[in-house]
Formats: sequence, C-alpha cells, structure tokens
Amino acid sequence: MEQNSNAILSVRDLSVSYGHIPVLRGVSLEVLRGEIVVLLGSNGAGKTTLMETIMGVNTPGAGSVIFGGRDIARGPVDKNVRDGITLVPEGRGVFASMSVMDNLLLGAHQELRGVDKKLALVFDAFPVLAERKSQNAGTLSGGERQMLAIARALMSTPHLILVDEPSIGLAPIMVAAIFDILVTLNKEGYSILLSEQNVYRALKCAHRAYVLESGRVIREGRAADLLQDHRSTYWGV
Ligand code: ATP
Repeated sequence: MEQNSNAILSVRDLSVSYGHIPVLRGVSLEVLRGEIVVLLGSNGAGKTTLMETIMGVNTPGAGSVIFGGRDIARGPVDKNVRDGITLVPEGRGVFASMSVMDNLLLGAHQELRGVDKKLALVFDAFPVLAERKSQNAGTLSGGERQMLAIARALMSTPHLILVDEPSIGLAPIMVAAIFDILVTLNKEGYSILLSEQNVYRALKCAHRAYVLESGRVIREGRAADLLQDHRSTYWGV
C-alpha cells in the first residue's frame, strides 16, 4: 500500500506476539495530519498492544511504524517522544503520591527549556489542574486524573497524541468533557489516535475509524459512515 503524503503516522503490516500467542496480525492504518482517528474493538482486541507497539514499548515480529520519516517501532521510546509522539495510557498512569505539578514536570521528559510556557498552556487548557497543582494526584477525581494524564502528555510538545481508552470508568458527564477536550486539542492542531469502546461518542468526534477484532483490522472508513453501520454497537463490547 502506498503511503499518503499527508500521513503523520503509517502503520504497515504490524504483527506482535506475546510468547507464541499472536496478538496483532498484519495491522495497517494511517493517521493523516489534523485527524482524529479512532480505533474500536472489544476487550482483548489488541488496542493497547497496538498503541504500545507504535510507541516502541513492544517489539513487533514484523511490520513498520513510520513517524517523522523514520521507523519508530523498535524505539527507543524516549527518542520517539522527543520526536513528537506521545501516549496517554489506559488507566491514566499518573503517579498518585506525587503532586499534580510534579506529574506535569515528568511529562516534559527532562526538557526544561520553555517549561514555564508549557505549564502556562496546560493550566490555561485545564484550569482545574492549576487550582490543584500542589495536591497529590491520588486525591484527584477520575476525570481530573484523565485530564492530568492528557496534560502531562502535552508537556512533551507532541504532534501526535495516542489516547488509550480515556473514557473507561468515568461518569457520563466527565466522558463528555474528555471528548470535548480531545476535539479542542485537535482543532488546535494536534493529530490524535484514540482507542475506545464507547463507540457512539468516539465515532461522533473522529474523522475516520478502524475496527480491530482478534488483532486484525476488520473494517475501516469515515467515522460518519461507520456510525450508520448496524453492526457498530458490537464493536466496543
Ligand atoms: P482492553 O480493552 O481489555 O485493554 P485491548 O484491545 O486493549 O483490550 P490488549 O490489552 O492489547 O487488548 O490485549 C490483547 C491480547 O493480548 C489479550 O488477549 C491480552 O490478554 C493479551 N496480552 C496483553 N498484554 C499481554 C502480556 N504482557 N502478556 C501476555 N498477553 C498479553
């Protein structure tokens, strides 16, 4: 398959196994500049494995992940982050016993030049984090923790943000707030690859979507078209 010249990320024929068990089987997908692309799939479909492999955390048995003109699939992860790709992990991954501020500073990956400006930007986007910057992250609500995880990712000044199942465990009103934040970030110029089981909300905010089942892409297309597909309710359960 030919690479779209507007692609910020191109995943090609990616296969990953845990031991002898294949988890991703020849996955190909693209994120174009300025897009929100959603990855749908039920528990165990391979969404987290795909995101971690894109970041360079897992080593694929075959395939490539082209970002910034380079195959980043085999890491190193810190170089990939410095090159402009970042992951907001499933479960948020914030450090509960550290303050909100220290969690954010960790997100800067030791690049402390311009850190005050980056902090000002994230506090502007997430005023609740500014109010709570001295508080331990463990005292935040689930939704605030998800905001912190996204804000921490922004501290590395990414061009592409991978967001793994941000709505998990959140009250509906907070889910709506998190999707609004992702749409706003996208309008500000960030490209986003989002994994979700909340099919309806994800398709409403995304430009395009891929459906993963047992480690294979079984459907792809414009989010608006997939929303009309009567099978869509099954793609997140
Ligand atoms: P969920 O929504 O439940 O997180 P997912 O689509 O993100 O699901 P993965 O977490 O990527 O799916 O898991 C895909 C498959 O790989 C599952 O069968 C899971 O049990 C298996 N798996 C994930 N991590 C490991 C690991 N470290 N070692 C062995 N098997 C793993």
